[in-house]
Amino acid sequence: MSRPLCSLGSLRKSLLVAGRLEELNAVLDVGLMSWKRELKTLAMLTSLLVRSSLFARQIRLDVIDSRDRVEFLRALFGECDVAKNGLNVAFRCPACDAPREKRKLIVRTDNGLWHCWVCDSRGRSVASLLRKFHPDRVSEWNRRFDPNRRSKFDDDISASALSDVELPPCVSAVDVYDSSDPDYLSVVKYLGSRAIDYDTMYRYRLCIGTRGKFKRRVIIPSFSGDGELNYWTARSIDGENFRYVNPPVDRNSIVFNEVDVDWNRELLLVEGPFDMIRANRNCVPLLGSSLSKDSLLLRRLVENSTPVVLALDADACGKAHKIASTMYGLGLSVRMASLGWDKDVGEMSSDRIVTIVKDATSWSPMSRILFRTSNIRPGAIV
Ligand SMILES: [Zn+2]
Repeated sequence: MSRPLCSLGSLRKSLLVAGRLEELNAVLDVGLMSWKRELKTLAMLTSLLVRSSLFARQIRLDVIDSRDRVEFLRALFGECDVAKNGLNVAFRCPACDAPREKRKLIVRTDNGLWHCWVCDSRGRSVASLLRKFHPDRVSEWNRRFDPNRRSKFDDDISASALSDVELPPCVSAVDVYDSSDPDYLSVVKYLGSRAIDYDTMYRYRLCIGTRGKFKRRVIIPSFSGDGELNYWTARSIDGENFRYVNPPVDRNSIVFNEVDVDWNRELLLVEGPFDMIRANRNCVPLLGSSLSKDSLLLRRLVENSTPVVLALDADACGKAHKIASTMYGLGLSVRMASLGWDKDVGEMSSDRIVTIVKDATSWSPMSRILFRTSNIRPGAIV
């Protein structure tokens, strides 16, 4: 009997917070009691989970400072009407001479979009609105309500400013798959260039950063076995600087996307989350090319006697043997895939991955000795 892929209780709890419990119940009512075996259902549930994390974050944001934002703006633009959702706030537009009582300048307190229905002035951030009418207050607004904007100028305020694991500002990739926003479009194109299509985005709950340093980044969220967000990685689609942003979480304390892992089947270990996506099977990324002896991953493998296939990038062959040796010493069955010298898992076709996994050979201490001797150049002193 395999254990549930995530606890229904915690899923219900998250969805309740997000007001999406009905969707879960609808899914379960279909009678898919073996839902944990149904990949599609699982993808649907966990996709809901991502959205609920985003949604819960949104709710917290609203609760925390929506009122403060409104107060800030009211002090500058005068009395206003707050819409029922608490997000849209209507002021009298200072740019046009509409009658005093007409409040046609709508400001969204969450994303900062603003628009006057009378004179058609508009902008994409509250800062731009303030620059127009109250330039002396722009920096105060940014400091109090837009810390991500601030981080653009101050790279020291990195993800370490986030205390608990919380998704950075982002949207679910499938939600903006058809968006005409040029940044979303670029990210979707980038994913396409890595053979990651709509279904794969859905399957791995991929998100796209919306603000500040997370713009133009693919965010791959990770959930624990209980369905709690435990990690994420944000990869830039541009250039090589700060290619990855990660939360300040000890990688040894989590198993990336344990929610998807079946410990009773052979598990493929790869280096990075993109390798994991490409492999599209029972797979965990090490988030590097080493494995600490006190990592949760190693503990889970031993607890479940899970057989392992190692497929690290070719340049990490020595490290792969070290990992294999550790696991072998703990009584695990280990096979090692041979990647060839020029390829990373993330660049292989899925067919090729199937082949290298099929052809992976059992590892024993002799494999390491053979590897070492094959690496000794003729004439070298051993
Ligand atoms: Zn106006």
